[in-house]
Amino acid sequence: MIVNMSEGASEEQITHIIERIREAGYQPHVTRGTTRTIVAAVGSGRRHEIEALQVAPGVDNVVAIAQPFKLVSRQVRPHRTAVRVGDVEIGGDDVVVIAGPCSVESREQLVSTAHAVKKAGASLLRGGAYKPRTSPYDFQGLGEEALKILREASEETGMPVVTEVMGTEDVELICEYADMLQVGARNMQNFSLLRKLATVRKPVLLKRGPSATVKEWLLAAEYLLSGGNHDVVLCERGIKTFETETRNTIDLAAIALARDLSHLPVIADPSHGTGKQSLIAAVSRAAVAVGADGLIIEVHPCPERALSDGPQSLDFAAFEKVMRGLSAPLRGIAGAAREGITVPA
Ligand code: PEP
Ligand code: MN
Repeated sequence: MIVNMSEGASEEQITHIIERIREAGYQPHVTRGTTRTIVAAVGSGRRHEIEALQVAPGVDNVVAIAQPFKLVSRQVRPHRTAVRVGDVEIGGDDVVVIAGPCSVESREQLVSTAHAVKKAGASLLRGGAYKPRTSPYDFQGLGEEALKILREASEETGMPVVTEVMGTEDVELICEYADMLQVGARNMQNFSLLRKLATVRKPVLLKRGPSATVKEWLLAAEYLLSGGNHDVVLCERGIKTFETETRNTIDLAAIALARDLSHLPVIADPSHGTGKQSLIAAVSRAAVAVGADGLIIEVHPCPERALSDGPQSLDFAAFEKVMRGLSAPLRGIAGAAREGITVPA
């Protein structure tokens, strides 16, 4: 339920509503806009006690939250959220590009990539330390050694780093080294991992599961917000369809839809979304045109030698070309796409 306060409601009136929501067995969540305050009652409690607040002083109206996800929805927070990672803002005016190798393979590989992607205009560095591989015989990542290399590359270039966390047992260690934690597509509904990440003070990049609906994806984000971590960025990385020419089918409509339903920033992963170097430029432009707040792109000094995801990794020159393709006029269209998205009734 949402209690919409009237314009000019006093602090005392807002505090009273917060207390009544607690008494009714719900968790209160306050969103302060420029003119109005919204107090959401989240969880399960005595609904009729919230409905009765309709007549409390300073209350404009009381409405139900239409969607099963609550804190993630734009009904609870009509304005867009920007998530800060170091001094980079995701979900602000700029399209933020995260780039780097699928896996950290060596110091030399990561540091050279970090310098190249920074020069081309990326603002965050990616690199896997713990890799979710389909086969147990494939390269599994360098673990803590990779985390140390990521930190070094970050210090050398000033770029914050994002890396995947596969299990609850790795969360603490990864938090010591990374600026942002990625929940991989295969782990989107790992609820114990989500619950643990809800308690850390690091932003989370939440990838959409390959077979997850948009609703399931947003409910996974709800685990993070309801547990106390509001710094969540959503990432569309392609879903399973009958098509086999591309590795996954990137769902461009889901980017616009997620931004319509939620105030959280949404980025796109054209690398896993297509699996093909040749499609990254076009799909990056398309994702930005439908309103993506950013992109995450795999880059490797020599893709043919990559220990994971070589066929979808760009070399430095190809990455620079993709960045040039995201030129000012396209960013203008993107700005319009982001502005044009309406709040659901
Ligand atoms: C990755 O980012 O390298 C990765 C494994 O991504 P996903 O979880 O989307 O497959
Ligand atoms: Mn990868």
